[in-house]
Amino acid sequence: MAPTALLADRLVDGTGRDPVENAVVVWDDGRIVAAGARSEVRIPGDATAVEGDDLTVLPGLMDMHVHLAMQSGMNLTRMLMSPRSFTLLHAIPHSQATLQAGFTTVRDAGGTPVGVRMAVEKGFFAGPRMRLSVAILSQTGGHADPMMPCSCELYIDSAVDIPHSRVDGVDEMRRRVREVLRAGADNVKLCTSGGVLSPGDLPDTPQFTVEEIATAVYEAGVHHKHVLAHAMSAQGIKNALNGGVRSIEHGCLLDEEGIALMKQKGAYLVPTLVAPRDVAAIAKRNPQQIPEEMVRKAERVARVHIEAFRAAVEAGVQVALGTDAGVGDHGGNGRELALMVEGGMTPMQAIVAATSTPARLLGMEGEIGALAPGMAADVVAVQGDPLEDIALFGDPERVRMVVKDGRVVRQTAGAPQVMTPAAFGASTWTA
Ligand SMILES: [Zn+2]
Repeated sequence: MAPTALLADRLVDGTGRDPVENAVVVWDDGRIVAAGARSEVRIPGDATAVEGDDLTVLPGLMDMHVHLAMQSGMNLTRMLMSPRSFTLLHAIPHSQATLQAGFTTVRDAGGTPVGVRMAVEKGFFAGPRMRLSVAILSQTGGHADPMMPCSCELYIDSAVDIPHSRVDGVDEMRRRVREVLRAGADNVKLCTSGGVLSPGDLPDTPQFTVEEIATAVYEAGVHHKHVLAHAMSAQGIKNALNGGVRSIEHGCLLDEEGIALMKQKGAYLVPTLVAPRDVAAIAKRNPQQIPEEMVRKAERVARVHIEAFRAAVEAGVQVALGTDAGVGDHGGNGRELALMVEGGMTPMQAIVAATSTPARLLGMEGEIGALAPGMAADVVAVQGDPLEDIALFGDPERVRMVVKDGRVVRQTAGAPQVMTPAAFGASTWTA
């Protein structure tokens, strides 16, 4: 395959560096070979060029909290009436929609078995690069206990090769985490507080003991894997951090002490600001669908969430973008950037939170999350300047080109053309 040169009005490289005007990014054989100002980049003579109107080129975006097999809306009747095989197959359109939205890497926070990742890697269908938690571990009566008030167990898990969620005590935790890792998980997901879409608990209460959490962290750590914690309550957040988790998911009730502890531990916040708003919006559209108590929890959480986030940003906590897609629609992931700006980030900080910070969270900072020579060619081109208009990421129409591993998976920008030397200054041309 010939090298490709994507010409753009500006380039934002994902590291937080100032944008570059009149830019180009060149990739070949799945890797970026050059990125920068056109006047400084040598473009190979056999490159195929793509140019569009008012384009900004960025690294592929990353979402650190999705549920690819989960359908949005928390429709309990639909869940009851769906065979798990059918639930699982929803991961196909969800993966495709996520990639089309410009998200080339995701961390799945549970409910998706490794077969989905393997199928994407085999090319059965298009999807982002995936790091999967597989199961969502929860204490009895906790956020992911499948037992419903009616005494039937309702699984959000989409497949039989997802280990059981409910676990209590240090010994059981040790065994269950080993089972999750045996099932092929790339990381381990725990619920260390109550949540919104669970019938029997409250977001402001802790779940699991520090000992249980630390056991999970140890077992994951020996396999060089990290633990992410669904943690809304202030105490649940601190317990998770003291147990050694790498990222706090949601963090709605994060307090000053929690913020200090996050900084001390070098933990990441994955805020998912869009999730409680999605719950409230879905409930408004379909009043019967989501149980009323869950909607009330969502509304309460959304109010404090953005302020906790603002305090974390001001304190300099590392933030990585997450959306909880599966609660809301898949493919709407880009809406989170505008909410992060609403919560006090600059547009540039929001872009960094969607690119190089999540790459670091995953320990993949040399591979993805920035436009630099040698990195995987995960590239997104959007129409407009996101530093002026951060909301553009929420409009799928404006995501004009998506490239994953050097393969163009979406293109609505200008048609590819074979380059001619006349298109560039002679200094930029190599035969
Ligand atoms: Zn989630």
